[in-house]
Amino acid sequence: MCGLKGELTAGPTLSYEALRAQYDILRTIGQGSYAQVKLAHHRLTGTAVAIKVLLKEEMQYCLIRSEVGIMKRLNHPNIISLHQVIETEQNVFLILELADGRELFDWIEQSGYLHEGLARKIFSQIVHAMCYCHDIGIVHRDLKPDNIMVDATGKVKIIDFGLGALVEPGMKLSRFCGALRFCAPEFFLDQPYDGTKVDTWNLGVLLYFMVTGTLPFKGTTYKELESQVLLGRYAIPSHLSKELREIIRYLLTVNPTARPTLKDITVHPWLRQRNASSSSHSHKMDPSHPDPAIMAAMADMGFDPRDVQKSLLDKLYNEPMAIYGLLQCQARQQDDYTSQLEPVEPGVTPFPTLTDPTTFPCYQKRTTNTPAIRVFYSLSSKTDSSEDKEQVGQRLRRSATVPAMLPHYQQKRISTLYEDRVCTGTQHNGTMASIRSAYRSWKRWTRRIGASLLQLCCCVPTKKIRVVPQREA
Ligand code: ADP
Repeated sequence: MCGLKGELTAGPTLSYEALRAQYDILRTIGQGSYAQVKLAHHRLTGTAVAIKVLLKEEMQYCLIRSEVGIMKRLNHPNIISLHQVIETEQNVFLILELADGRELFDWIEQSGYLHEGLARKIFSQIVHAMCYCHDIGIVHRDLKPDNIMVDATGKVKIIDFGLGALVEPGMKLSRFCGALRFCAPEFFLDQPYDGTKVDTWNLGVLLYFMVTGTLPFKGTTYKELESQVLLGRYAIPSHLSKELREIIRYLLTVNPTARPTLKDITVHPWLRQRNASSSSHSHKMDPSHPDPAIMAAMADMGFDPRDVQKSLLDKLYNEPMAIYGLLQCQARQQDDYTSQLEPVEPGVTPFPTLTDPTTFPCYQKRTTNTPAIRVFYSLSSKTDSSEDKEQVGQRLRRSATVPAMLPHYQQKRISTLYEDRVCTGTQHNGTMASIRSAYRSWKRWTRRIGASLLQLCCCVPTKKIRVVPQREA
């Protein structure tokens, strides 16, 4: 049995003010079955992050511990990264990489369905990321379009390992969980199951949904759905290519023993039509050789390099580790950005490099910033705009994941609203994407201005230049 002790972090539980001292919480951007997700701004580095707010309740604590344990093991470009864990008396806050773009569900809802080429590009990234998970003994068990974030370039980030599990080869799991319309036949049979094969089935339902905009099993009652799933009865539109119809059938193999692994799927002809251009490498940081430029920037912020290195080596997911990770992301984004640029007139607006003081312009020395004491949930309801609440309300109706611990009789009464989502959901307004892009371009410009100022005023001591204010505009 999991207690409500502060077991998720190496240090003691913190106060809510400690969180507010590090992060400026801006607004709600997502609502799941268990958690609320906030857009926040890391004060020292000026980086936007997502904060998943979990309420510590007796029942949930095991799930939270499992999610944190899993997130700490993951390091893949198509899976959202965990930067920091902050635990207070009432809440656990997961500081996550902010996913660009929108849920895959919203993209499909907007366009009706995805064309094969785009579906292949997105699906291939999901399959490769999940293969990586299976290789390191992690299953997701809740793969559905709400848990796949996709940006405007088609880059995928898988989120929400809240129902994930650690597995060993041959190990069987027994908890019934996930969205009912995505459930594999073995769930309906109440059999112990192989979690990797459940992920394969879920991806079959997901791929069908991507390319048709509807779900394969359309039963309107539990009994109907159960019989369709157990018999593998669904229709595949004939206009889809032969290879696509084949891969869907292969994924939706009713017998889990005969169902392919995701490794088998990666070599299927439908996926092999795609040039393997998706990045499958992980951005591994080597804690025994931390980046000297980042270490120098952190020393300037007031962090002892030995504490930073210890945090990285012991994977403490504390403040120094988060800042190191956020600065590393900033430097990487800068590299990606500069590599996409058209050549510019040298000397006019030079682009910053890792060793350039303007590369990490947003930080300030640590201060003991203590905002007013407030309970998190009441704060959220006070600060959210009515538009946010409206969106969150819609999302609440859409998310219908069965928790891993519900008693069986309750699970059977839960129905997902997937088809309702397809018919009645309203369009996403793209607020997140526009905020992110405005934020980025604003940040780029302030950096350029900073660099130009540096050139013009060579007498200004570089360490004191702070060209980016603390808050997003
Ligand atoms: P739950 O575990 O309660 O189901 P999720 O992790 O699925 O919660 O998060 C709920 C919603 O919040 C997601 O569907 C997504 O829209 C949004 N979200 C979650 N994580 C991120 C992230 N890292 N970046 C941006 N949005 C996110």
